[in-house]
Amino acid sequence: MSIHWTHDPPKQVVALPDALAKISSKVLDDVTLRRLVDPDVYGAFEQCRRSGEPMPKAQANALATSIREWAQANNCIGYSHWFSPMRGPVHGEKLETFMALDFKSGRLMVNLTGAELFQTETDGSSFPNGGLRETHQAAAYMGWDTASPPFIYGQTLYIPSVFIAWSGDALDQKTPLLKANDALDKHALRLLRHLGDSESQAVVSNVGWEQEFFVIDREHYLSRPDLVATGRTLFGQSPLRGQQQSLNYFAKMPIRVRRYLDAARERMWELGISIDCAHNEVAPAQHEISPIFSLTNLAADTNVLAMEVLRDLAFEHDLAVLFHEKPFAGINGTGKHNNWGLNTDTGHNLFVPGETAAENRRFVAFVAALAHAVHKHGDLLRASVSSSGNDHRLGAQEAPPAIITLALGKSLEEHMRAVARGGALEGYGMQTKHLPVAKNVPDIKASLEDRNRTAPFPFCGNRFEFRAVGGNQHIAFPLAMVNAAMAAGLKHMSDRIDAGDAVDTVIRETIAQSEGVLFSGNGYSDALLAHAKQHGVAHLATSPEAYAQLTADKNIALFGELGIFSEREAHARRAVLEEGFATDIAIEARTMLRMLRTAILPAAMEDLRRDADTGLSSKLLDEKRAEVQTLLGATEALASTLDAMPDGASEAANYAQRMLRPAMVAARAPADRLEGMVDEQLWPYPTYNDLVHDHH
Ligand code: ADP
Ligand code: MG
Repeated sequence: MSIHWTHDPPKQVVALPDALAKISSKVLDDVTLRRLVDPDVYGAFEQCRRSGEPMPKAQANALATSIREWAQANNCIGYSHWFSPMRGPVHGEKLETFMALDFKSGRLMVNLTGAELFQTETDGSSFPNGGLRETHQAAAYMGWDTASPPFIYGQTLYIPSVFIAWSGDALDQKTPLLKANDALDKHALRLLRHLGDSESQAVVSNVGWEQEFFVIDREHYLSRPDLVATGRTLFGQSPLRGQQQSLNYFAKMPIRVRRYLDAARERMWELGISIDCAHNEVAPAQHEISPIFSLTNLAADTNVLAMEVLRDLAFEHDLAVLFHEKPFAGINGTGKHNNWGLNTDTGHNLFVPGETAAENRRFVAFVAALAHAVHKHGDLLRASVSSSGNDHRLGAQEAPPAIITLALGKSLEEHMRAVARGGALEGYGMQTKHLPVAKNVPDIKASLEDRNRTAPFPFCGNRFEFRAVGGNQHIAFPLAMVNAAMAAGLKHMSDRIDAGDAVDTVIRETIAQSEGVLFSGNGYSDALLAHAKQHGVAHLATSPEAYAQLTADKNIALFGELGIFSEREAHARRAVLEEGFATDIAIEARTMLRMLRTAILPAAMEDLRRDADTGLSSKLLDEKRAEVQTLLGATEALASTLDAMPDGASEAANYAQRMLRPAMVAARAPADRLEGMVDEQLWPYPTYNDLVHDHH
């Protein structure tokens, strides 16, 4: 059957929808920059990026002038370095202006110097620093990460930056990532040379993040002190209709949410964030967006910026966006998959099996290095995704387990195991898979391996997916740990080859030594636990256990050898994470107490009073009275547990885990049961039904 058009279809698209026309208009990417500056200035900038050497002063000033003029033309009156202190994915900024004083004439003028563009100094003592800084040792610097382009948000030009102390210690999320990238580049090139590649000059890591989140009504959000203070609900019975029927998964978006997300995507596009996918997720009110992959450091920036755009626009649309890993008990929580891969500057994807024997061999060598990385430093990957929020998800049958294994997929795993036993390196991936459907549907080209959504680190045909990252994490730290571990694997192999071992022998032995970490089965099953036990793969069930690994001897050695953290910095990083964890839980406990004492218990007792007035008796009324009694006891117990919180980062984190969390669980249970019994007119807070369904 042929299609009959009622009129000729348009031959050419002449107009662009507004949203598409504005793509990248607010970001100073290389295309725009090259247009703005003289070739010699651009050349000097490129040279500076390649070498890490400062630009000559005259050219740096010329660059700054062009960038300022571009910003002014876009209505900016000032600029700010945009950095990522260790406090979750919320950027830091210190607003400065293009105004300057001409000391000769005493007149105000408009200016931005090269020195101002590249760095600024500030006071950094009040950010979490894990003891690296005393209050009287405050100086800190922001320095432009020149691989991440400046952008305009509102009336400000933002310059993505690192944030380091006067001592040189990292105070941010990004510095360790950039250092890990450098180490990865260096050791990947060494291995490539051993494999016969004399052309590549750089190896970079890329990431495409997938950000999940919940969208709820703003008024309900503001009526829940727990959501406002902690990002998650500390009370609440499961909604009557949860995710049992998969009604939300890939369903049509509610109209309000669709308008909101369309506007958010438009704003992200302007900023150069390449969102090209959006869909509904499993739980009611849950959604996901993802961009096209980019350099890891740039992706870390765009992720934070995208989260901020989502927050800002939610406000404008009378909605609230939740990124917490477990905002609601009983329905799925929120993750952030990181699709991670390696590429050379000569255009090769190092995790594509390839078509020639040489490409196959390279692929197997890099997968071997990754196996070494995950086998030896899986504990670091686990530590990097640890947070009070993510603890609710990992291993809870909705996210990968707290055991970090490498899921290559059935046939690649078989191939690698065969290589370890002396089999041919080439042969994997030479064939493609086609799925016939019906005459009207051309054969579907399928990936070589099925997807494994229960694995923390599965192979996806041309990349790996670090699936254990939390929805509310800054991705720079997990990526820094992945790249550090990978660099260590590459270094291990190149060191051996340099010492005289044959390349293929090193590949085989590296796989053989790491075989215990390969697991392509169901990560939600007991088989994984058995596998982990048998092969000695660490099972770090809680965050405090995982944080302790950051300062294990082998990891301190790794950080030192690769130049990622000094020993001091590693200890500080651990302390910051432990403090953050303990503080999160202490705030949750305080919030719970406030809600119980000032709202939930009074409502429940008022309900009991009314029951008594009726003079009736029943099992329900007895149960209610008993629950209120239980709740009173649990509230007292929670209060005294919170009072006894010890000082010291590790002590507080362990106490929060072992003592506070169980006390919170004990207080929540009777309160949730009461929610299902007390007069709903008296219940002080919007319920899960209101929160996840009301904005539809
Ligand atoms: P899913 O179907 O698993 O939800 P998505 O399509 O939402 O996956 O996201 C896939 C992500 O992987 C995108 O960001 C995409 O750009 C990214 N990606 C694809 N190829 C690579 C690669 N070689 N390296 C890194 N990221 C990649
Ligand atoms: Mg996805």
